Amino acid sequence: MKKDKIIVALDIQDKTQLDFLLKDLQGTASFVKIGMESFFTFGPSLVERVKQLGFKVFLDLKLHDIPNTVYRSCKTLGNLGVDILNVHAAGGTEMMKAAKEGLNESNNDSLLIAVTQLTSTSEKVLHEQILIDQSLEETVLKYSENAKLSGLNGVVCSALEVKKIKEHLGSDFKCITPGIRPKTTSHDDQVRVMTPKEAFEQGSDYLVIGRAIYQAASASTAFNKILKEL
Ligand code: C5P
Repeated sequence: MKKDKIIVALDIQDKTQLDFLLKDLQGTASFVKIGMESFFTFGPSLVERVKQLGFKVFLDLKLHDIPNTVYRSCKTLGNLGVDILNVHAAGGTEMMKAAKEGLNESNNDSLLIAVTQLTSTSEKVLHEQILIDQSLEETVLKYSENAKLSGLNGVVCSALEVKKIKEHLGSDFKCITPGIRPKTTSHDDQVRVMTPKEAFEQGSDYLVIGRAIYQAASASTAFNKILKEL
C-alpha cells in the first residue's frame, strides 16, 4: 500500500507540537522518521514511544565515523527496535561493513541504508566545495555500488537517481527518496526535488516527506491529500 511507503519526517523539537502531530497522524500514517533534531532533543525514549504508538521508525542519524565507532553505535541503535537505520556512504566500505556487523549483532533485522549525496547538495557545491570532480550522478551510482558491496539494503537518494540505481543494482536494492514536494509547496532548502507521484513513478520504494506534512495546519489532511494525488 502506498500509504505505508510514505515516511513522515518528525523534524520537530517542541514537545507540545510533537505530541499534537503524533496524535494527528495516528491511524493515517504508518511510518515516521526520527532525525537528528528530534533524537537529540528527546533522546532514545522517543523511538520507544513512537513504536508503542504503532508507527514504524526510520532512525535517520546518518552515521559517519571510524568503523569501530559505527559498529558499536549500530549495535546499540539496532537494539532500540528501529525499522530502518542509516549511515553515510562517504564513510567507505569498511565503515558500512562495520555498520552491518553491528546491526546484525543487535536484536534486530532492520534495513540498513546508505546516504549517497544529500538532496540539498547541488552539482556546484559538489565540485567547488567538496572538491569531487565526478558528476553528482556518477558519485551517487558509485556510492550505491559500494553500499551494495558492503551488504547494505539500499540507499537514500534523490528520486531523480532511482531509475539509474535500480538499472545498475537491481530492483530489490531499496531507494528511499527525500526532497519530495507536492506541486503547490515551496522547495525550501532542497535542490533536487520531485512530486510524490513522480517519485513513485521513478521507482522509489519509500518517500520521505517532512515540511509539506508537519508544517500544514492539519498533517493528516496534508498526508491524505498527497495520497489522493498519487
Ligand atoms: O522537510 P523536508 O521534506 O525537506 O524533509 C526532508 C527530510 O529528509 C529531512 O528530515 C532531511 O534530514 C532528510 N534527508 C534529506 N536528504 C537526504 C537524507 C535525508 O533531505 N539525502
